[in-house]
Amino acid sequence: MLSAYIGLGSNLGDPAAQLCAALAALSRMPETRLAARSSLYRSAPVGDAGPPDFVNAVARVETGLAAEALLDALQGIERAHGRERPFPGAPRTLDLDLLLYGSQRIATERLSVPHPRMHERAFVLLPLLELDPDAQIPDLGAARDCLCSVAGQNVERMR
Ligand code: AMP
Repeated sequence: MLSAYIGLGSNLGDPAAQLCAALAALSRMPETRLAARSSLYRSAPVGDAGPPDFVNAVARVETGLAAEALLDALQGIERAHGRERPFPGAPRTLDLDLLLYGSQRIATERLSVPHPRMHERAFVLLPLLELDPDAQIPDLGAARDCLCSVAGQNVERMR
């Protein structure tokens, strides 16, 4: 078993309800236990994604799944929540990203871990640091040291 961090985001329908349902679905993945979840955060859309605002969170799971099997399970949950991909960055009912998988670096056709944009996103860093103030991003170092470069991003803790 190792710890993995999952980033959750939604900006369609009832985003907070989507995230709560997704957290419950994470806890039902095989060989996996939901160990912790952050508060929900409201964030302004980045790039072509919005409006409306996103709701984001981060979860820590303890899992015996291999990284690609974990990605399969996450994509199955996205599909079950009706996610469509009409164009990159489109509004989405549910987006699940594998942020960290233990301290491993993974670069395959389907999977880049650590998630290549996680250190540029306040809506990932803030909930991650809520769960683990000492979180480390392989090759980058302490996640908290990335915060100053995202200070201008509009992210607010909801509950
Ligand atoms: P997105 O539309 O942003 O959710 O991107 C989904 C695509 O990114 C899928 O084709 C995945 O195979 C790929 N991908 C690469 N690395 C990751 C990761 N760490 N977490 C989730 N999806 C990833």
